[in-house]
Amino acid sequence: QVSDSAQYPTINHGKLGRVPAGILRKRSRIVVTGGAGFVGSHLVDKLLDRGDDVIVIDNFFTGRKENLVHRFGNPRFELIRHDVVEPILLEVDQIYHLACPASPVHYKYNPVKTIKTNVMGTLNMLGLAKRIGARFLLTSTSEVYGDPLEHPQKETYWGNVNPIGERSCYDEGKRTAETLAMDYHRGADVEVRIARIFNTYGPRMCLDDGRVVSNFVAQAIRKQPLTVYGDGKQTRSFQYVSDLVNGLVALMESEHVGPFNLGNPGEFTMLELAEVVKETIDSSATIEFRPNTADDPHKRKPDISKAKELLNWEPKISLREGLPLMVSNFQNRILNEDEGKGL
Ligand code: NAD
Ligand code: UDP
Ligand code: UDP
Repeated sequence: QVSDSAQYPTINHGKLGRVPAGILRKRSRIVVTGGAGFVGSHLVDKLLDRGDDVIVIDNFFTGRKENLVHRFGNPRFELIRHDVVEPILLEVDQIYHLACPASPVHYKYNPVKTIKTNVMGTLNMLGLAKRIGARFLLTSTSEVYGDPLEHPQKETYWGNVNPIGERSCYDEGKRTAETLAMDYHRGADVEVRIARIFNTYGPRMCLDDGRVVSNFVAQAIRKQPLTVYGDGKQTRSFQYVSDLVNGLVALMESEHVGPFNLGNPGEFTMLELAEVVKETIDSSATIEFRPNTADDPHKRKPDISKAKELLNWEPKISLREGLPLMVSNFQNRILNEDEGKGL
């Protein structure tokens, strides 16, 4: 049986609590916006495990209390139901700003809300960081590169983005969030950090969020055909969630503003991904082709030399190693869902 949560090396320092191996550090107070979501909840686990105080702000649009329920009762953990589009007063040392739906299905559901979250939500969190002198990390996205004309993508590439398309609420929203972060950095001396995250997968992804990894894994478990959009030759690079979380923390603790690409350079077509899912879960699974969505980027692969050199970070877990780590979590949740329906 594989554990539900990603594993992080820690050592116990008795009264000082659990801190990362080799580093004895001051306990910080940290806000994680979007901490009830997929990536956020894994980040919260890592921060609590190393002994920090964590406050999660989340409006539960795509996040779930189930992702954090194992932390309820921990006196160093607090969960606030709050929408980042509204101002908030807090006193903390660091802000990890993740709040924003990430799956295309979710962010297109209410595009105006998505762009408000990206613009007004980020503005509020930067205003908070400015007032209290906190360090602020933005989780931006590889989508700022749009349908890229440079391959692989380096941080110096400015992107090829449709400003008026169905994905614009998300990719233009994140581009504006990056602009705001840099303007608060230059204009108000806020210590900012910008991560551009590439496709990430792992336990606790929403079952029906429409992203390709969660779709394929859930479909294979439910004995449904794997839905490949378009001709399946488009590519993505898939990163396991614990690699991302380690990268976010390394960036926050570093002296570099960024932006930094955080992703796994292993590049796969959707047809290749379907094959890996078949090998991992059910070799008899079939493939069904569906029309692709509008403005779908043809390829995406991070150049991570900058993060390797300046953050000493690189992903450790390949797709073939990472996929099995999310299967038992998906199996259990699909089973509970079926039992809930009386099946
Ligand atoms: P997710 O949807 O699981 O988590 C997002 C969280 O933000 C949820 O808990 C949601 O309820 C919360 N949220 C959304 N709008 C909010 C609002 N207005 N106020 C308060 N909370 C709000 O997504 P995720 O995959 O965990 O992504 C986390 C962050 O990482 C996002 O900013 C996303 O853009 C970025 N990112 C993720 C990926 C990926 O592949 N997972 C890739 C690139 C960037
Ligand atoms: N803000 C917040 N919490 C704070 C400080 C600011 O939510 O502790 C919000 C504030 O309401 C404003 C935004 O952050 O909407 C930007 O704040 P800033 O002080 O930079 O701008 P101003 O309020 O001067 O427009
Ligand atoms: N995709 C697919 N089948 C699915 C869901 C998505 O083939 O069931 C494709 C989608 O068209 C895109 C790629 O997988 O080319 C990645 O989609 P996802 O929504 O996971 O992430 P993003 O487009 O944001 O990179």
